[in-house]
Amino acid sequence: MRGLVDTLRLKHHLDSDGYAALLTCDDAHYLHEQAREVAQSVFGKGIFVRGLVELTNVCRNDCYYCGIRKSNSNVERYILTTEQVLQSCDAGYKLGFRTFVLQGGELSRDKAPWLVDLVSEIRQQWSDCAITLSLGEWPREVYKALHEAGADRYLLRHETYNAEHYAKLHPTEMSLEKRLQCLTWLKELGYQVGTGIMVGSPNQTIENIVEDIEFIESFEPEMIGLGPFVPQHDTPLGEYFTGSAELTCRLYSIFRLIFPNALIPSTTALNTIDQNGRTMGILAGANVVMPNLSPIDARARYTLYDGKATTNAEAAEGIAQLEAQLATIGYHIDWGRGDFGKCRMQNE
Ligand code: SAM
Repeated sequence: MRGLVDTLRLKHHLDSDGYAALLTCDDAHYLHEQAREVAQSVFGKGIFVRGLVELTNVCRNDCYYCGIRKSNSNVERYILTTEQVLQSCDAGYKLGFRTFVLQGGELSRDKAPWLVDLVSEIRQQWSDCAITLSLGEWPREVYKALHEAGADRYLLRHETYNAEHYAKLHPTEMSLEKRLQCLTWLKELGYQVGTGIMVGSPNQTIENIVEDIEFIESFEPEMIGLGPFVPQHDTPLGEYFTGSAELTCRLYSIFRLIFPNALIPSTTALNTIDQNGRTMGILAGANVVMPNLSPIDARARYTLYDGKATTNAEAAEGIAQLEAQLATIGYHIDWGRGDFGKCRMQNE
């Protein structure tokens, strides 16, 4: 196994059998150690923070795994007002955040002009901040307008690169092809793009994960978002098992060795299923955390999965706690924008 890890670190690539072996081997200690070393050589011991604003839990899609899918009638729906979003960014800015992430369900198409105005407003008020969007699938012209209004980055997980598996997670009106088309558009338009998967999503096989690694390798995203699948009891997949924290961390390490400069969050989902999830992720090579800046009552309604962590170090107000938690493993917050490719410069 050491040989495979050494090759991956040196060549940033393995064949599919090599990836499968790293995902299934008995002991991932050396894999994590090498990934951590690479992350530290690029980013030092600084962890970037992104202020997450959960813009809305209204969604026009019906993904079988997601707690805010449109068919879930037990969700009390909200869309933050422009003012609430600006207040969240203002509070975040005062705490030191220099990246805002607007994430939410997929709003109806007629909300596009409002989104563009919202991004423009944030751009005008906080010209030194990065704006990341994670708002799902839109026509190319909407992505373009949002980018022109000031959005720099876009997160859109492909969820799975296997079309059959995709069809087990999504209704027929959604397609992998469309998802991939959106990712291509985002890249063409000049966004820094993030993609990724849920680890342990229902019916996912190791071969599927290898296909995901190979897709991500070829797509070369700037950000890689990976979190365990966590069931939500009101969804069609609510009876399935929670994904593995261990496997999620192996993937952080594998992607760190493939892409030394990538921005890889240690995700809330990982921290939800394991109380040490955040630090485990960082020690496996992740270098970003995304505390929550949303208004408190919105957080309780953005119920993607059961038990979602929204308080303490997971929340933006818990910065001191986050600092303390990072300090226990010898890390600290890096308050920079953390643009892809500029990390070495920032830490020099
Ligand atoms: N609608 C946008 C999209 O599809 O990209 C952004 C919001 S969506 C809720 C953000 C991410 O949440 C999805 O890409 C998915 O991977 C994750 N997610 C949704 N349900 C989940 C679950 N039950 N467990 C873990 N992650 C989940």
